[in-house]
Amino acid sequence: MANKPKLIVANWKMNLGHEISKFLANDIAAGLLDYSFNNLKIIICPSFISLQEVNEIFKKSKLDINIGAQDVFWEAPGAYTGEISPIFLKEIGCHYVIIGHSERRFYLHETNNMINQKIKSALAEEITPILCVGETQEERKEGTVDHLIIGQIKDALEGVVFSPNQKIIIAYEPNWIIGTGQTLSPEEVARIVRLIKKYFTDHYSSEFVENSLMVIYGGSINSRNIKSFVQQEVIDGFGVGGASLKADEFIKIIKSV
Ligand code: PEP
Repeated sequence: MANKPKLIVANWKMNLGHEISKFLANDIAAGLLDYSFNNLKIIICPSFISLQEVNEIFKKSKLDINIGAQDVFWEAPGAYTGEISPIFLKEIGCHYVIIGHSERRFYLHETNNMINQKIKSALAEEITPILCVGETQEERKEGTVDHLIIGQIKDALEGVVFSPNQKIIIAYEPNWIIGTGQTLSPEEVARIVRLIKKYFTDHYSSEFVENSLMVIYGGSINSRNIKSFVQQEVIDGFGVGGASLKADEFIKIIKSV
């Protein structure tokens, strides 16, 4: 476990148009040129329309930065206006996808059942899902967090049997922390990460847990608070939203991890 590379997932959400996305990708690439990050994996998730060009920018820079999509649809290609198949993502070299982000659960009423179908369709193409789970502020006050998070994972993975080439990233992202500037204590985040890992240890092979699972934390991470979370070795990495939209700030986070 101790030698596992750390992971940073940048979620640009619907913040940036295509031109600005290219600028930001170029700025990040330029800022990291002389920096070697052997034990760190970076996934950047721009909007669908910028996936391909942002990927090209990182490929040209020779930096080992991958792209990820922010969503995917579960049906085979066909008459589904506005949707994107995992087959199309794979075709453009996109091997990761965020699924079940709290903003989609809230604004687009994504259910655990829809999330389950998305997970299955992504895995079928060997695209690694970044499954977001987490509680609302009310749920935290009610003290139902542990039960709720494990329930979200169980529902999302219902009927999923992982083959050796399939992996999963669980992103613990409490929705009351996302974009609010509030934070949970690093100790509490580490406790939740341990809880999630224990669930997988109890239900999946040790080989799967060691090689195919990562559990990361996201919620108002920035260059000032990142160091206290990095000290919690059990956290495999970080989801970064707002702080990934400025190259300087994002690079500081990368260097801290
Ligand atoms: C996110 O939405 O995945 C996220 C981590 O956002 P922020 O860092 O802005 O809280």
